[in-house]
Amino acid sequence: MKSLWNEKEAARCQDDLALRVYTSRLIGGDPALVLHGGGNTSVKAQAVNLFGEKEEILYVKGSGWDLATIEAPGFAPVRLGTLKRMAELETLSDSDMVKNQRAAMIDPSAPSPSVEAILHAIIPFRFVDHTHADAVVTLTNTRDGLARAQKAFGKRVLVLPYLMPGFVLARQIRQETRDVNWPSLEGIVLLNHGIFTFADDARTSYERMVELVTRAEEALAAQGAFSPRPQELSPSGPQTPMRGEDLLALARMRKAVSTCAKVPQLARINRSEKTIEYTLRPDLRDFCFKGTLTPDHVISTKPQPMLAEENPAGCVEAYAAEYQAYFERNADGGQVMLDPAPRWAVWPGKGTVAFGPNGGRLRVIEDINRHTVCGSQWSQKLGGWEPLSEKDLFALEYWELEQAKLKRSAGAPEFEGKVALVTGAASGIGRMCAQELRNRGASVCALDINPEIRSIFKGDGFFPLVCDVTSVDALNEAVARTVETFGGLDILVTNAGAFPSGREIDQIGSEDWKKGIEINLSSHQYLMKAAIPFLREGIDPAIIVIASKNVPAPGPGAGLYSAAKAGLTQLARVAALELGPKGVRVNVVHPNAVFDTAIWTDSVLKDRAEKYGLTVDEYKRNNVMKTEVTSKDVARMVCAMAGPVFGRTTGAQVPVDGGNDRVI
Ligand SMILES: [Zn+2]
Repeated sequence: MKSLWNEKEAARCQDDLALRVYTSRLIGGDPALVLHGGGNTSVKAQAVNLFGEKEEILYVKGSGWDLATIEAPGFAPVRLGTLKRMAELETLSDSDMVKNQRAAMIDPSAPSPSVEAILHAIIPFRFVDHTHADAVVTLTNTRDGLARAQKAFGKRVLVLPYLMPGFVLARQIRQETRDVNWPSLEGIVLLNHGIFTFADDARTSYERMVELVTRAEEALAAQGAFSPRPQELSPSGPQTPMRGEDLLALARMRKAVSTCAKVPQLARINRSEKTIEYTLRPDLRDFCFKGTLTPDHVISTKPQPMLAEENPAGCVEAYAAEYQAYFERNADGGQVMLDPAPRWAVWPGKGTVAFGPNGGRLRVIEDINRHTVCGSQWSQKLGGWEPLSEKDLFALEYWELEQAKLKRSAGAPEFEGKVALVTGAASGIGRMCAQELRNRGASVCALDINPEIRSIFKGDGFFPLVCDVTSVDALNEAVARTVETFGGLDILVTNAGAFPSGREIDQIGSEDWKKGIEINLSSHQYLMKAAIPFLREGIDPAIIVIASKNVPAPGPGAGLYSAAKAGLTQLARVAALELGPKGVRVNVVHPNAVFDTAIWTDSVLKDRAEKYGLTVDEYKRNNVMKTEVTSKDVARMVCAMAGPVFGRTTGAQVPVDGGNDRVI
């Protein structure tokens, strides 16, 4: 690897803390060094306190910050003297360590210091960098890791056996380095864990990291063990779309994992060529389930993936039973078992699958997977992948400080982990439904024939697709791509339609009639047909049909629209009867007078209002409650129908119209 130090950028840094931010970001930005919040860095500097006295401070990475994006406030300022004295103690519990580290901060509003703060404090250099570099951990996750590391790094690097991070590790390093000539050292390698480098200036400490990691990479390369690289496992270029049975198996796997985790999970498959090669290795079972690349990955991925075979539900059950046994083998009575669901699966011949409640978690798990899949194969080439023991991984997975990190995550939104598909999503009610479902945590496939759909729904958790809902093939494809993207389908909002201009029955041409029926009635059956096999594998699945007030209260001039929507409502009623026993709910919304949609331009509104002798405002509120009805009101009803409020209701037709005297 190469140093990314840039003299110009470094010159802009005003002080040591700014330089600390700069090189921390260089480290954090390289996934070969750290992933998602892994690793930590520090700088020792002086601060002037309230009384004008200078104090020696360790600015160490704060909990919850990521080195890739860290800023100055991300470094916890802890009194160096206190940390050094803590290192002299014979014993110190982890909770006392955390409490006293916090108490020693000069700013109580700063984030909690890294659990490695004491270790950073006792290394007598101003800058300390710590990473979990792939090449370094891979070299040491082998049977003869100690010898390999000593050979690769030479005498200027201290190689130490694995110890649990925190106080125990800091104390061990203090003892091991008591008589060491620090200036003769460039770094410390912790077997099965990572590497520290240090120096009195930011550049040297960072470049020592680059140099030592490069030595590890060269040691791997010399044995032909530095391939494939994690970036080669990212799916690139067009792939053949997943089909039929594979999609259903993916949806079933996701449902079984969600049931086991007791919260809905998304599932995303990685089908890159190198990933599939890995899943087909004849020796896969000999090494793939042994452990993680570096200990803190266990928090995100558990000690091992699930092996996905024929029967997904059975595989999840078997995984959960094995996890329970692992817990019972290692727990000392003080821990509460986490949910036993797998965080990723190896699906031979198909790929790897990550499970997580949202896109952010999925990305973390996927990134760790790719690095683990590579690192474990590199170690195999060095004579065998031997990561940390089950006992050590358990100690970390159930370490109170790591468990605390999980608990800090805020309450999940209502539909987190659920997957919705909304048609006619480029405008009006459909657009608002897609937005509202996403706001409440669902991952949403937004369909529309209007290509603008792509720019309307671009962000995380959206999957916009241009689709003509009158095409059976296009709908089948849209449903398949939704399942492939998010792992399943739970909420179907069948909304797309067209409101033809008012014409009396004897004025409607036969082609217009056919077209109107096709879009407002037939397309909904096509969509249901495509979606039902997947909804049956969904989590509390629901179909919500957007019909119209015209069903219970038709008006002259709307024969085509009213007949189609009445047919659609009847279709929904039959669907409720057919799908209820299969666990899928079907409910209908009858909106009326929703004017914030594309068809109701200001001039159309004005014309209509004038026709009834009303002002535009009176026309908008022309209902029993004298209130305006918006797309958002309809979207809220759709969300209610998708959620637990309607959990025991199917076949219902609910108006959202401000009250209509012909309907009431
Ligand atoms: Zn570490």
